[in-house]
Amino acid sequence: MEAFYEELCKIVTEEGSVLREEPMKNHTTFRVGGPAEYFVTVGTTEQLQAVIRFCNRSNVPWFVLGNGSNLLVSDAGVKGVVLRLAGEFTQCEIKENVHDGSADAVAGGGMLLSAFAMQLAKKGFSGFEFAAGIPGSVGGAVMMNAGAYGGEIKDCIIRAEIVTEDGECRIFTADELDLSYRHSILTETKGVVTKAWFSFPIGSKLYILSNIEMLNRKRKEKQPLEYPSAGSTFKRPEGNFAGKLIMEAGLAGKQIGGAAVSEKHCGFVINKGDATATDIYTLMQFVIQKVEETSGIRLEPEVKLLGDFSS
Ligand SMILES: Cc1cc2nc3c(=O)[nH]c(=O)nc-3n(C[C@H](O)[C@H](O)[C@H](O)COP(=O)(O)OP(=O)(O)OC[C@H]3O[C@@H](n4cnc5c(N)ncnc54)[C@H](O)[C@@H]3O)c2cc1C
Repeated sequence: MEAFYEELCKIVTEEGSVLREEPMKNHTTFRVGGPAEYFVTVGTTEQLQAVIRFCNRSNVPWFVLGNGSNLLVSDAGVKGVVLRLAGEFTQCEIKENVHDGSADAVAGGGMLLSAFAMQLAKKGFSGFEFAAGIPGSVGGAVMMNAGAYGGEIKDCIIRAEIVTEDGECRIFTADELDLSYRHSILTETKGVVTKAWFSFPIGSKLYILSNIEMLNRKRKEKQPLEYPSAGSTFKRPEGNFAGKLIMEAGLAGKQIGGAAVSEKHCGFVINKGDATATDIYTLMQFVIQKVEETSGIRLEPEVKLLGDFSS
C-alpha cells in the first residue's frame, strides 16, 4: 500500500496531513481505540472530494470523523482512511438580516459546536444555546440531529452541503436531511457534511450567555464529565429513559475491566482510566441484555461503532 500512501500525499500536500497507524484513542472522547491505517486531514472541499474519489477507485474504505464524541473505535483499529475536517471546514460566517435583525449563519462541518455557539452568543443571536455544551462538531451534530434541553439541530437548520459517497457536492434542504431523534439521511446513506446554514432570531446577549452558563452548570451537576465517555451511550426508548431503566436493572456502578456504568448518570458508560474498547463494548452488551431481562425493553446504542468488535 506504499503507492496508495504516496498518492494520498500528492492529493493532500500539507505537512502532517497524512498519518499512518494514528492511534484513534487520541481522537475520541472515550479515549480508547486502536490505530487508523491512514488518518487524513483535509482543509478544502476539493481535497475532500479528491480523497473520497481516490479511495473509491482504490477500493479502500473511508470514514469521516467529527470530534469523536459519539464514537467507539475497536482496539484493533480501523482499516482504510479516517478523514478529519480542518481549514475551511472550521470557519463560520454570521450575517445579520437588516429587515428583521435575525441572523443567517453558515458553519463548516468541522467546526466545534461550542465555538459556533459562543460566536452566536457574543453577537446576540439566540436559539443555539442548547448546543454549547455538546462536545461535537457541526457535521457530527447534523448527522446525529444532536439535541439537548429541548433544542435540536432540526429546529434551526435551513440546509446543508454534503459531499456524497461518490464525491459529488450537493445541497440538501432541511426536509431532505430527514432529521428526527438522533437520525438524519446520513444514518442510511454515506456522506460528509461540509457546511450547514442556520437561521437564528436576535436576543439579549446577556440572557444568552447566562443561559449557556446555566445549561453547562446543569450538565456538570448531572453528568460524569470528570471521566472520558461518549455522552449518553444508549438512545432514549420511546416513553422512557435509558438511565432510569439501567438503574432499575441494578446496574449503577457495574464495571467490566476499566469500563463502568456511571453512578452519577446511569445512561453514561465511562472509562475509569484504563478501559479498552472491548471492555466498553462488553459492558454495553451486558447492559442491553440485563435491561431487556428486567424491563422487556431492548436498548439501542446511540454511540456509533467503528472497526471490528466480533472477537
Ligand atoms: C460528555 C458528552 C455529552 C454529550 N451530550 C450530548 C447531548 O446533550 N446531546 C447530543 O445529541 N449528543 C451529546 N453527546 C454526543 C455527541 O457529542 C454528539 O452525538 C455529537 O453530535 C457527535 O459529534 P462528533 O463531531 O463528535 O461526531 P463523531 O463522534 O466524530 O461521529 C459520530 C458520527 O457522525 C459522523 N460524522 C462526524 N462528522 C461528520 C460530518 N462532517 N459529516 C457526516 N458525518 C459526520 C461520523 O461518521 C459518525 O458516524 C455528548 C457526548 C459527550 C462525550
